[in-house]
Amino acid sequence: MKINENYKKLKTDYLFAGIAKKINVFSEKNPNVNIIRLGIGDVTLPLVPAVTEAMRRAVSEMGEAETFRGYENSGVGYLFLRQAVCGYYSTAKNVKLNEDEVFISDGAKSDLGNILDIFSADNTVLIPEPVYPVYVDTNIMAGRNIIYTEGSADNGFLPMPGRGMKADIIYLCSPNNPTGAVYNKKQLELWVEYAMQNGAVILFDAAYEVFIRDKNLPASIFQIEGAKKCAIEFCSLSKTAGFTGTRCGYTVIPHELVREGEPLNKLWLRRQTTKFNGVPYIVQRGAEAVFGDEGLKQINGNIDYYLENARVISETLEKLDIWFTGGGNAPYIWLRCPDNMSSWEFFDYLLEKAGIVGTPGAGFGKNGEGYFRLSAFGSAADVKEAVQRIVKL
Ligand code: PLP
Repeated sequence: MKINENYKKLKTDYLFAGIAKKINVFSEKNPNVNIIRLGIGDVTLPLVPAVTEAMRRAVSEMGEAETFRGYENSGVGYLFLRQAVCGYYSTAKNVKLNEDEVFISDGAKSDLGNILDIFSADNTVLIPEPVYPVYVDTNIMAGRNIIYTEGSADNGFLPMPGRGMKADIIYLCSPNNPTGAVYNKKQLELWVEYAMQNGAVILFDAAYEVFIRDKNLPASIFQIEGAKKCAIEFCSLSKTAGFTGTRCGYTVIPHELVREGEPLNKLWLRRQTTKFNGVPYIVQRGAEAVFGDEGLKQINGNIDYYLENARVISETLEKLDIWFTGGGNAPYIWLRCPDNMSSWEFFDYLLEKAGIVGTPGAGFGKNGEGYFRLSAFGSAADVKEAVQRIVKL
């Protein structure tokens, strides 16, 4: 038996383990300091009432012989939820989808990794960096050739394809984790044009789409003309509706997306029906409620709360004249470390001098060095206290 040698090429992920270790050492030495955590990528507000009520009703149905449900059969999601997603795309994004272009899953992370099953291992992958580490790691596991396009303060951490770059698969994440930067329409048009010229496929990660409040910014790649011929979109209810522990997401593969004569929708359907048995009925009923009138009103209340945190942080950085991106249409603020400090030096400085924890940018790739991610997912009281400490520092 031989193991997959590619796993040996993966870098050990020291980021969150390293952070936890430093916090432990600090809090042992300083037991009286109230540490404020602005490093988290997880939500803190609970599920909204529309969701929990729908889930309670579904639990009752599962306990009655007449309404009990076993296997979902297809593994691609119940029609009621796929229709609710189509309704959301139509009203919120003016994008028309068919129900069978929507695949329900247990979240965007699984789908972003699993989608690689339908592509040849010979493909070259283009990844804008710094970025959510899953894209890089899943392709290393599969032994694919990876090329990078580099984010920097000069391009506002919205890298575009470089001249002569030849890629088959392209990852885009907008609003971006970790930078909070959002591609505008013109930039996405250029990406779509590039993908069409190269016969490439864009894997568009829209996990944070609900944070886009500026109506001029695209909240779906399918708002760009021609994108249905070259893109797959990944969405998640994790940050949208607090489903990080409940688990539900969806992936959109338009019928128009065809390569080598094969619709990719058909390949993914085959893949999912073979390897996936679906998301629990109870969770899917909760997810359906997110897209109802009451659900949308309630989750948007939560998004407003996080965006207000982001505004408070952004405003403070502006006053202090610290360069940053994100915050306006995203739950992340990506700042340049003051005084040319490295990401980890700034991490130590902020923890030791102000008792604040953030995420060192170097953990998201080499272009993240010298930058730092703050998250707006904490409590409003913590954020207010944190900015006061930062100003004092
Ligand atoms: N995509 C991005 C950019 C993320 O930041 C995350 C989670 O942090 C995910 C996908 C994963 O989402 P899910 O919880 O749906 O797996």
